[in-house]
Amino acid sequence: MKTKPVGPIPSGYEAINGELAIGGRTASDLVAAAGRTPLFVYSKMHLDQRVEDLRAALPERIGLNYAVKANPHPDVIAHMAPLVDGFDIASSGELAMVQRAGIDAERVSFAGPGKRDDELEAAISAGATLNCESEGEADRSLAIGRKVGKPPRVAIRVNPDFELKGSGMKMGGGAKPFGVDAERVPALARKLIAEGAEWRGLHIFTGSQALSADAIIEAQTNVLELADKLSNEIGEAVPKLNMGGGFGIPYFPGDEPLDLAAVGNALKAHVASLPASLTHSDLCVELGRYLVGEAGVYLCRVIDRKVSHGVTYLVTDGGLHHQLAASGNFGTVVRRNYPVAIATQFESEAEDVVNVVGCLCTPLDRLADAAMLPRAEVGDLVAVFCAGAYGATASPADFLGHGPAAQTLV
Ligand SMILES: *Cc1c(COP(=O)(O)O)cnc(C)c1O
Repeated sequence: MKTKPVGPIPSGYEAINGELAIGGRTASDLVAAAGRTPLFVYSKMHLDQRVEDLRAALPERIGLNYAVKANPHPDVIAHMAPLVDGFDIASSGELAMVQRAGIDAERVSFAGPGKRDDELEAAISAGATLNCESEGEADRSLAIGRKVGKPPRVAIRVNPDFELKGSGMKMGGGAKPFGVDAERVPALARKLIAEGAEWRGLHIFTGSQALSADAIIEAQTNVLELADKLSNEIGEAVPKLNMGGGFGIPYFPGDEPLDLAAVGNALKAHVASLPASLTHSDLCVELGRYLVGEAGVYLCRVIDRKVSHGVTYLVTDGGLHHQLAASGNFGTVVRRNYPVAIATQFESEAEDVVNVVGCLCTPLDRLADAAMLPRAEVGDLVAVFCAGAYGATASPADFLGHGPAAQTLV
């Protein structure tokens, strides 16, 4: 069988006694402590390191927001609370999660289409900033603000006329359910201000999962220009500009890490020559997977080893019900292998070409195709890396009734 490469294993994962270790503990030790597989392990060391790298590369002026939907595990949110400046949420459920972590609503902004009235009310009452997605939502926010006797704090999410090139998921440019078309933003902002909303500025998100520094730099340049133009048309300074994010991580063979220093240097140049409209603005980027993606490892156990027509299958107790993205069914066109390893044979020589599959009764449930890995037997543990973002909560855990994976932060 022709082998297919697996994606690059993120840095910072080492072996202890020949086994993959996370946070100084072996995979089997972590599984024993959790009492079961499958298990998501999130590494504090990786979270801390990533924030440290970002703080070192980006100008001090640029705040760091965490997009909670990437990984809303309570321990992850609590760990991120003192490390980042703001939290971007996308539902009242996520609002409750950040509130449970004791995060001040001053630090929270709420984006996302289709905010229900009860969600708007919860956010307005708490004092979170609404990133307003439409004129209709603006009207409802103003009405709810009057009802609860509290002016809504509102920024406008702009649907820009450009996009983040090469991004995995395009979320700007052309017709979109997200944000207000740029040319309609000034009128809406003036109306919100006239009707008593607390004006919080602009949110311009252009896309996700970009590995090209040039593409991110170009998008940020466009974002700053657009924010300046809109601010002048509105006739008010922008208290806060959320510049979006889109910083990607390598998932697949051939992917190269983002050149963070290049992004940081370009931002430093921008910050040194901001237009008048933005000189007093709070500036921030909002990152999800870049902060948490590489900090997570999904561990599952080999339940069966079988051969069909000469092809070896490692059948695990994991699968797409926890790791939809690794199975290739979450926003990918061509299925490619995530970084996958045999955790319990982490330093052994790769000698066996296998298909790693999950336990779901569907051909979609694949974790690695034709991967060259160390020989694994029943009982060995398989590690799927880059599992810290869009894993546990972006997968259909109820599908086929196996239930959710365990999760732990170490
Ligand atoms: C999902 C989302 C993010 C996070 O995207 P990542 O690719 O995980 O960095 C940031 N901002 C908004 C508005 C989003 O919807």
